[in-house]
Amino acid sequence: MVETPATAQTPVPRTPRASPRSARARERRASTTGEVAGIAITSARRIIDVASGIRKLDLVRYYARAAPWLLPHLRDRPVSLVRAPQGLAGELFFQRHITRAPIPGVSLYEDLDPGHPPLIGVDSLDALIHVAQMDAIELHTWNARVTAIELPDRVVFDLDPDPVLGWERVIEAAELTRTVLGDLGLEAFCKTSGGKGLHIVVPLVPGASWDDTKAFARAVAQRLASGWPTQFTATAGVEHRKKKIFVDYLRNVRGASTAVAYGVRARPGMGVSVPIAWEELAQTTGGAHWTLANIDARLKQLNRPKRGDPWARYAQVRQTVSSELTLRLEEGGA
Ligand code: ATP
Ligand code: MN
Repeated sequence: MVETPATAQTPVPRTPRASPRSARARERRASTTGEVAGIAITSARRIIDVASGIRKLDLVRYYARAAPWLLPHLRDRPVSLVRAPQGLAGELFFQRHITRAPIPGVSLYEDLDPGHPPLIGVDSLDALIHVAQMDAIELHTWNARVTAIELPDRVVFDLDPDPVLGWERVIEAAELTRTVLGDLGLEAFCKTSGGKGLHIVVPLVPGASWDDTKAFARAVAQRLASGWPTQFTATAGVEHRKKKIFVDYLRNVRGASTAVAYGVRARPGMGVSVPIAWEELAQTTGGAHWTLANIDARLKQLNRPKRGDPWARYAQVRQTVSSELTLRLEEGGA
């Protein structure tokens, strides 16, 4: 068959050619492009984590499987992305705004961050798979919804242990945090970070301002540090954290974000942040107890009627913080 110049006016029927070159090209395409939820995944077979051998396609498929559990935690919140176009071995990009080409499917939240391009929303399966296709590994969410952005609907305490500490110390710290919050009449929920620690989440009915919520979080952190000085520090910086756990309360300012529940971490081994019941905490082995290698069994458990969702009560909890509560904490009463 005669090659038709690209400029030819008449359309040429696209008869598949049997040249070895195009066959190879086809093969290569098949092995590098996948499809998830109707979205073409490029470089699907690229290994993103050498430690676990996880490929980009494995990650995107996980996000599709986890979407029913993950999306409720993403929906209506500004989301920051950690993107790794070259995998974990390459440079990581922390992205809070949509600057250039929009990612298909994502929501653009204008004017929530004045003076900046729109914030990012990942509110649908379509958006989730598209951000994963764009090499996002981590998804971090704000403590407020876009519908009431000035009124946080949760407080997050990030427990960051000195790496020399045994995991049992982190478990103990989480239980203490729970107790202090419980004494204030506040129910708290726990999740692994997927990294080195735990996140304690306190759902709130929106009402208190960012300033009041942060002041409350700081007072809790200081109460922990003063009550159990050998266990906790409320001061950032590794020099203060020696053999202690840093209660990071600074996640509770406007614009701060925390790795989302059921989100993957861009770290060797690819840990997953997993909500747990308090009764399960003692059996965990670390912040990366769950990874992409063992998360499926966990997701399966969630669908079982008896065990179910360890955070099932989360949406029913009705509680608030206030400057009065903070004052009581600071004065040592409770
Ligand atoms: P670990 O349990 O290992 O401490 P973590 O999720 O608690 O895991 P990090 O991954 O260290 O902690 O996250 C630090 C915080 O800083 C997160 O809340 C994240 O949203 C934010 N963050 C991370 N990278 C950047 C960055 N480059 N710019 C701004 N904020 C960032
Ligand atoms: Mn942490």
